[in-house]
Amino acid sequence: MALFGGTFDPIHIGHLAVARAAERCFHLDEIHFIPTGRPPHKHRAGMASYADRYAMVALACADHPRFIASLAESGAGHFGREVFYSVDTVRHFKQKFHGPDTHLYFLLGADSFLQIPTWKDYETLLNLCDFIVASRPGFRVDALRLVIPPELLARPGSAHAPLDPHAIALRRTSIYVLDTVSSRVSATQVRGRLDRNESIRGLVPPRVEEYITKQALYR
Ligand code: ATP
Repeated sequence: MALFGGTFDPIHIGHLAVARAAERCFHLDEIHFIPTGRPPHKHRAGMASYADRYAMVALACADHPRFIASLAESGAGHFGREVFYSVDTVRHFKQKFHGPDTHLYFLLGADSFLQIPTWKDYETLLNLCDFIVASRPGFRVDALRLVIPPELLARPGSAHAPLDPHAIALRRTSIYVLDTVSSRVSATQVRGRLDRNESIRGLVPPRVEEYITKQALYR
């Protein structure tokens, strides 16, 4: 199982490419797409409401049996007004799905992973579960190692070492790199095109495009 958090403002085909590649390479049975309530790092004026972002995620997940739209960060009344931190969300999922058969991954793009030292309790988070970091044009995957505190890295030759030679072994967990994704699409690009009245065909799933049009979002 993987947790895939994001602002999803809106969800786009780059997100889906990441999720599909992770599903295939890591044989994931479920990917939980978790729109964040009030993003701690990415709050901006004109952001779509939590309800709209969640609705678009649900529409994008509709055709994929293993993609699940999650309300885990919707907060009281499902209004999405609260700030959630990944460390707490991962703990919540670990408690909820703690079977011997459940292997939990945290899925994110390379740009987000490079920001991880700014996240709440990130050293704890890095020790809680394995990570899958997807490549993203413009961000170097060989820089990922630089943001990990050296004391969290596994000692050379330690018993805990992932089979994948490209993975980064931490003392308790592993960071896997998914370097087959090369989508240049971003939510910023999608919003910019809508703002200029340009087409977003092919940048978001058709149902999401239809939703954006009907609700007149990002104009
Ligand atoms: P914005 O342009 O508003 O900053 P975004 O396109 O980065 O948004 P988010 O919802 O912030 O989208 O991203 C959620 C997660 O998906 C993050 O971990 C991000 O790194 C990852 N991600 C988004 N787009 C891509 C992409 N094209 N390739 C790889 N990872 C991506």
